[in-house]
Amino acid sequence: MAISRYSRPTSVAQACALLSDAPGRTALLTGGTDMAVSLRSGRDVDLMVDLKRIPELHTLGWSDEGELTIGACMTLREICESTPIRERFPALTEAAEVVGSYQIRCRATITGNLCNASPCADTIPPLLALGARIRITDPSGEREEPLDGFITHVKKTRLKPSEVVTAVIVPPPPPGSRNAFMRIQRLRGHDLALVNAAATFNPKTRAFTLAVGSVAPTPLLIPDLDDACPSGATPDEVGERLAERTLPHISPIDDVRASAEYRRDMTALLCRRLARRLMGNP
Ligand SMILES: Cc1cc2nc3c(=O)[nH]c(=O)nc-3n(C[C@H](O)[C@H](O)[C@H](O)COP(=O)(O)OP(=O)(O)OC[C@H]3O[C@@H](n4cnc5c(N)ncnc54)[C@H](O)[C@@H]3O)c2cc1C
Repeated sequence: MAISRYSRPTSVAQACALLSDAPGRTALLTGGTDMAVSLRSGRDVDLMVDLKRIPELHTLGWSDEGELTIGACMTLREICESTPIRERFPALTEAAEVVGSYQIRCRATITGNLCNASPCADTIPPLLALGARIRITDPSGEREEPLDGFITHVKKTRLKPSEVVTAVIVPPPPPGSRNAFMRIQRLRGHDLALVNAAATFNPKTRAFTLAVGSVAPTPLLIPDLDDACPSGATPDEVGERLAERTLPHISPIDDVRASAEYRRDMTALLCRRLARRLMGNP
């Protein structure tokens, strides 16, 4: 492992300028919980740009309509402790709460969880199900993109070397809608997900969104759920329909944590559990 140069800019503009001027391999640092592991595994970085000194990245913002903007350096602990996030986006709080340990959550950020692009990253399924966008800044300006499509493969994103993710934006949930996150793991306590999943349900329109993780190279937002919840269908029937629509999209692998077959079964189980939870009495 080697870091040739380390820099702590105090504005996003400075961070972008550093990245675009630097020759060689650059990397961004927020909490460093994934970065520390990859440096120990031998990753070499010519310029490490630490974003933690940039004040505007340490903010949570709400629009009048209820849209949430999470600055890139907000930690998972800060997400867990936000009452308005817990009330409006329980799926996000529930996912943040299971990441690592308290110590990890005091450092780790949602942005780092997204940009690390692990198939089992816990905060990605809720953000996909909630229709999140990411704000990206580069020397030419700022733009927003849907999170769906940002992660292209295991540990790969669309981000270019001169770009910084400055915020994650979660649109307001439709009034009366519900959202939840669930995961299956081997151990009680700290472990990575065998399967994780998040869903939203709007009782008025009977619309479901569902995203699953740890069962494909990237977390997946499941398409074509329009008729998953016909009028009069019971939660168990809807759970079966969600599972039927989800299983053709996943491609789980056998690894030290579980077999592909077990992951398939657990994906179907989470579909049924989420339908029961979201369609049951609040
Ligand atoms: C012991 C342990 C247990 C863990 N358990 C879990 C778990 O249960 N569930 C889970 O999902 N994860 C888990 N993780 C992984 C990790 O904690 C999360 O992925 C964390 O959210 C990463 O955030 P960070 O701020 O530490 O990212 P960093 O390590 O700082 O960065 C991660 C990656 O994102 C890039 N990056 C960071 N910020 C930006 C930015 N603003 N713009 C562009 N790129 C950026 C970095 O360059 C790097 O490639 C665990 C890690 C450890 C060490």
